[in-house]
Amino acid sequence: MSRRAIRERKKLEQAHPGILTMWEELEKSDKIETKQAKQPECISRKLKSFQLEGLNWMMQQEKTKYRGGLLGDEMGMGKTIQAVSLIMSDYPAPKPTLVVVPPVALMQWSNEIKDYTDGKLKVIVFHGQNSKVKGMSVKELQKHDVIMISYNSLESLYRKETKGWTRGDDIIKEDSPIHAIDFHRLILDEAHSIKQRTTGVARACFALKGMYKWCLSGTPVQNRIGEFFSLLRFLEVRPFADYFCKRCSCSQLHWNPGSDHKCEQCNHAQMEHVSVFNQEILNPITTSDSPELRRAAMDKLHLITSRVMLRRMKRDHTASMELPPKEIVLHNEFFGEIERDFSSSIMTNTTRQFDTYVSRGVMLNNYANIFGLIMQMRQVANHPDLILKKNAAEGQNVLVCNICDEPAEEAIRSKCKHEFCRSCVKNYVKSCEGAGGDPDCPRCHLPLSIDFDQPDIEQDEELVKKSSIINRIRMENWTSSTKIEMLVYDLYKLRSKKQTLKSIVFSQFTSMLQLIEWRLRRAGFNTVMLDGSMTPIQRQRSIEYFMTNPDVEVFLVSLKAGGVALNLTEASRVFIVDPWWNPAAEWQSADRCHRIGQKRPCVITRLCIEDSVESRMVMLQEKKANMINGTINNDKVAMEKLTPEDMQFLFRGS
Ligand SMILES: [Zn+2]
Ligand SMILES: [Zn+2]
Ligand SMILES: [Zn+2]
Ligand SMILES: [Zn+2]
Repeated sequence: MSRRAIRERKKLEQAHPGILTMWEELEKSDKIETKQAKQPECISRKLKSFQLEGLNWMMQQEKTKYRGGLLGDEMGMGKTIQAVSLIMSDYPAPKPTLVVVPPVALMQWSNEIKDYTDGKLKVIVFHGQNSKVKGMSVKELQKHDVIMISYNSLESLYRKETKGWTRGDDIIKEDSPIHAIDFHRLILDEAHSIKQRTTGVARACFALKGMYKWCLSGTPVQNRIGEFFSLLRFLEVRPFADYFCKRCSCSQLHWNPGSDHKCEQCNHAQMEHVSVFNQEILNPITTSDSPELRRAAMDKLHLITSRVMLRRMKRDHTASMELPPKEIVLHNEFFGEIERDFSSSIMTNTTRQFDTYVSRGVMLNNYANIFGLIMQMRQVANHPDLILKKNAAEGQNVLVCNICDEPAEEAIRSKCKHEFCRSCVKNYVKSCEGAGGDPDCPRCHLPLSIDFDQPDIEQDEELVKKSSIINRIRMENWTSSTKIEMLVYDLYKLRSKKQTLKSIVFSQFTSMLQLIEWRLRRAGFNTVMLDGSMTPIQRQRSIEYFMTNPDVEVFLVSLKAGGVALNLTEASRVFIVDPWWNPAAEWQSADRCHRIGQKRPCVITRLCIEDSVESRMVMLQEKKANMINGTINNDKVAMEKLTPEDMQFLFRGS
């Protein structure tokens, strides 16, 4: 530590002597013993033993000074049923519980509550398109046991209350009914949605009032320590989540400097305020060269998690989860003759362009272009039409993503006013950061500045539907592709067995799913589609249609539609149409069906064209999976990166 840093630290300790003893006190505080709660009478499912332990932990945790915590069980272990059991543990509560979820999980959650409690709880889904909600007073809202809302809606309510909107020369503000309620309990599902504490979504959650506070998240803390900090603030884990003033006794959780960069509370400058969490945990772990400092910081992190978090892994509870086996297979084929010419001309072209960038030493400056080339090679491996017929999408008044060139799903806009699929631009930025460059806009090449958490840009549904690739192709002369026929073949094979097995088909490209749908319907398959242009209610209808109709065999799901929050145990077959270099994305897809409630063995099939960018992606994926095995820190980040070496490998295969 520099002499100045030591002096500053002394100042801090003088103003806040508590920070000298807080770790010791934390270590002395009681941990909750592992014990099973009784099976709750009013829950219609029999809870597994580890779920009863989770319920007991949550009930005890509410009696501590933290009055809540983080249930961090791995995906698929039933965090929802444990949370619903907690709601029932003190039913009827004097005030409602608020559950905040990603849009795609909104209806599913409320249906699960109904199922588990035999409809005992009065649940209302707070969504702009729910006519029941419109004009409902705060008083009426409070008559419900549970209010469900999506992160997007919550953010929008809060924005209207705090920032308002302009009409003519006026700024109009509107009180948020949700923020007016003092809740009994707050539950954030997929709580890493508030990972960036400065975003509108996080602020909207911090502003909620509640007696007990819970975060549910399957993302391991070690991967994203900065994100964990944001959860600690929501949970109000003090003093560890506080900002401290070095010049006075001021300490606060939610730091809002006034316009003059002075603290609103003590009037000292913003820079006089520091976060002990950053100083003692985040910075040493992420930037320190000293193993001792890193270990000490890790120990402190574990001290905190041991008091506010419970995380269990599937592999430790396989017996009580009664999960059937899961098998992952690779189905690979070479291009058929018809596609081969076109594909190899695309591949030769892209490789030549890539080589030019490399030989001129301008690879990093052309990251956006290279990303586009990879996109093209992936599209051609699916079907040549994804490239040949894509341009027609423009001029139809639908927003077109500037990365995948398809109609944008969950469309968001950059500062330079260009539109993207939310997931395309996220992937692009994350992989670009791995290459060590600052991402530029793939369209205008200005430095890319974009808020990932902005609400979706609303689009006209009819226009989006009309923009389907099917409307751009004369389908009577259409020829299928190797990839599509591989899938048809695999699905036929499933059919010939005695019972019908349901399948989920994932792709990054909606146009591909549209082609697949067209082909499958002609082959006599019943299909249903879920993509990012659908509203939460439409999504829920599709899910229900698939889950409840025995003769619907295939569910076509766009990976951009937030497929990670789906619970689809009716299906036992998963097809991943286009490989991606990040293995975690595929693991998550597989988890849609391999989870509690699944009774049949699951098979996950990855479709892959040999000797193309896809077979190299599969290899790259395996390399990344091996590389991160055994490391606990930053592994997710490493998987998302696409380094210059990775790019060379994708283009040249060596
Ligand atoms: Zn101060
Ligand atoms: Zn202050
Ligand atoms: Zn896109
Ligand atoms: Zn731009």
